[in-house]
Amino acid sequence: MKISRIDTVRLAEFPNLLYVLIHDGDGRVGLGETFYGAAAVEAWVHETAAPLLLGQDPRRIDALNHVLTGYVGYSGSGAETRGRSAVDIALWDLLGQLTGQPIYTLLGGQTRERVRIYNTCAGYRYVRQRPVQSVANWGMPTAADRTGPYEDLDGFLYRADELAASLLDEGVTAMKIWPFDLYAEATGGRHIGPDDLHRAMEPLRRIRAAVGSRMEVMIEFHALWDRRTARQIMAALAEFDISWYEDPLRADDVEGLAQLARATTVPLAVGETVTGLAAYRRLCEQGAAGVIVVDAGWVGGLTEARKVAALAEAYGLPLAPHDCTGPVGLTVGVHLSTSQRTAAVQETVRAHYTTWYPQLVSGLPAIHQGTIAASDAPGLGVALRPEVFERPDATIRSAVIETSA
Ligand SMILES: [Mg+2]
Repeated sequence: MKISRIDTVRLAEFPNLLYVLIHDGDGRVGLGETFYGAAAVEAWVHETAAPLLLGQDPRRIDALNHVLTGYVGYSGSGAETRGRSAVDIALWDLLGQLTGQPIYTLLGGQTRERVRIYNTCAGYRYVRQRPVQSVANWGMPTAADRTGPYEDLDGFLYRADELAASLLDEGVTAMKIWPFDLYAEATGGRHIGPDDLHRAMEPLRRIRAAVGSRMEVMIEFHALWDRRTARQIMAALAEFDISWYEDPLRADDVEGLAQLARATTVPLAVGETVTGLAAYRRLCEQGAAGVIVVDAGWVGGLTEARKVAALAEAYGLPLAPHDCTGPVGLTVGVHLSTSQRTAAVQETVRAHYTTWYPQLVSGLPAIHQGTIAASDAPGLGVALRPEVFERPDATIRSAVIETSA
């Protein structure tokens, strides 16, 4: 059995998404995905990965992942790691199809049929246009294009009480918001004055006034603050009984995170941008993370993500797979979070899950009353819809085994 062909697919409408399809020469195709800077990853797949993969046995997933972990570019979520991640996910999907088993079974079997979700309160076009995490890339609706009920970023900024009630109506009892980002960009994360701090916490006052403690709230900081200001904001948030503070600092400031962690009883959720076991080990050893976040599309694939899950379990830490990237990333997360004992909750984004995710793929995990479950189809259970390949904005490149004439 040999890898006979590798395709990459990217779409101008979604310039951060890259799909990798790996063919086994027998009609089966594994699907992988990564997010951010798709053109750079596409180039890496064809320049570096394809010559190493073509002709190889696709079942040797861990070994191939190691082969693709190159001399440079292995310790952060750069293009090499994102590409390796997408390849690895595609190989797992292929293995599932070869064995007729869903990925969660290959990972040891279900520890639960369904896992609890939380909603990340992004809007329909959040971080779609450019490879940056900034207010300018929030994709906020204008009056003319406010078309659906799930403009949840606009919602948490201006109608957080209604938003919380709407989520509870759907059985979702946890939500994540990032009301401080605007103020961080104004000062480079070096300062927030008392008036801005008060204004930024208005969504929390609204949520607690409307639904009390029935809603869990997580605060996302996107690593925009310095240590002192992050600590100041965390102290001000103490009255709101927040469930976790996510990425108050960059994940490579392990000592700074450990200091913040010691200053609060609220766990710090860290990890979505972290790559490799060694970096996670440092976070765990120093007590810098209270919730381990992992994104298989950035960490080095499902191969690396399952090792991170084992590490989290060894440290007694809950795992919370990341979403807010793409439909395959969500699906991989659900296979992880329904199979790994240490998983506690799965991130979801209802604005994406109900609109463009199902436009690109079929077979998405099903959400019901605040929980999500993977399908029992072989592999990941998701496939790109045939029409994706026909789109005029698609860029499709293929690498095949060269046969001597
Ligand atoms: Mg995050």
